[in-house]
Amino acid sequence: MAVATERARRPDSFTQATKESVAAKDVCPFCPGHESMTPPEVLAYRAPGLPANGEGWSIRVVPNLYAAFRPEPDGQEHREGRFWQRDAIGACEVLISSPDHRAPTPKLPRRQVEEIVQSYLDRYQHHARNGALEHVVILYNHGRPAGASLEHPHSQLYAIGVQPPSLRDELEGAHRFREEQGACVFCRTLEDERRAETRIVFENEAFVVFAPYAARTPFETWIMPRRHSASFGDLDLSTEKPAFAEALQLTLKALHDGLNDPPFNYFIHSAPFKADAADAYHWHLELIPKLSTAAGFELGTGMWINVVKPEESAAFLRNHINSIVEQTA
Ligand SMILES: [Zn+2]
Ligand SMILES: [Zn+2]
Ligand SMILES: [Zn+2]
Repeated sequence: MAVATERARRPDSFTQATKESVAAKDVCPFCPGHESMTPPEVLAYRAPGLPANGEGWSIRVVPNLYAAFRPEPDGQEHREGRFWQRDAIGACEVLISSPDHRAPTPKLPRRQVEEIVQSYLDRYQHHARNGALEHVVILYNHGRPAGASLEHPHSQLYAIGVQPPSLRDELEGAHRFREEQGACVFCRTLEDERRAETRIVFENEAFVVFAPYAARTPFETWIMPRRHSASFGDLDLSTEKPAFAEALQLTLKALHDGLNDPPFNYFIHSAPFKADAADAYHWHLELIPKLSTAAGFELGTGMWINVVKPEESAAFLRNHINSIVEQTA
């Protein structure tokens, strides 16, 4: 067969067919008209009357064929001598941001960004009803160095039956603070940051965007609801949904405009379903641009070199957001 494009050979190019036949460069499984190249959708927003798995959608969510997790635990245990394994319980989904192949979040209409947030919420709540699951993480990779394998903008959702270690550390810290201080450590952080002002990037009526005091990488940025809430699944539709979409889009646009469209990852940290963390935990989004190349030192020592102070990165992004807001006003 002809040599496939690099993209087409990636294991997450979504269908068996694409792997073989997508040497034709212009075939993107996420573009309208190519719905049959993905597994059947699990959610789509389209005008009433239009058939599923056809064109006319504004958001489309499909299972990731190459998922490490399965939606249904089939209970299969594999035993071989003293080795034992059970198929991972969970789901992995792809949330396609819009029909537009070339429009990352900064370039979409605000209304479409609200639709993206709505799709996050719908799928989060769907999986939260599954008693076998512990946790849902929603993430977005932008750019090859950040792990994005397909150009068409999309987020990913992992619904899993265990608590991920990074979240467990955060959760333990939150519980400790709650026991010692009688308060939510994230609410306290918001109070402190808003008083200090220097690390604030943007605020609206429901969210605060800030550069964390102990930022691990240059331009690390967090988006946090002002209302105490442990679960992303409790996002308020009338006030918090549009405010979250605004905060997310402005932050990504500032990053795009100010730093020449760098690769980045963001992920939503929300309390595990059975964590009993309603008082102690506070959901948030962490945005980590990939700007630093000091990886060797960091891997070798476990210490992070942060070459840009959080106060400087916050001021830089704040100025960009101010000029974006002025231009659109
Ligand atoms: Zn596409
Ligand atoms: Zn809180
Ligand atoms: Zn976190």
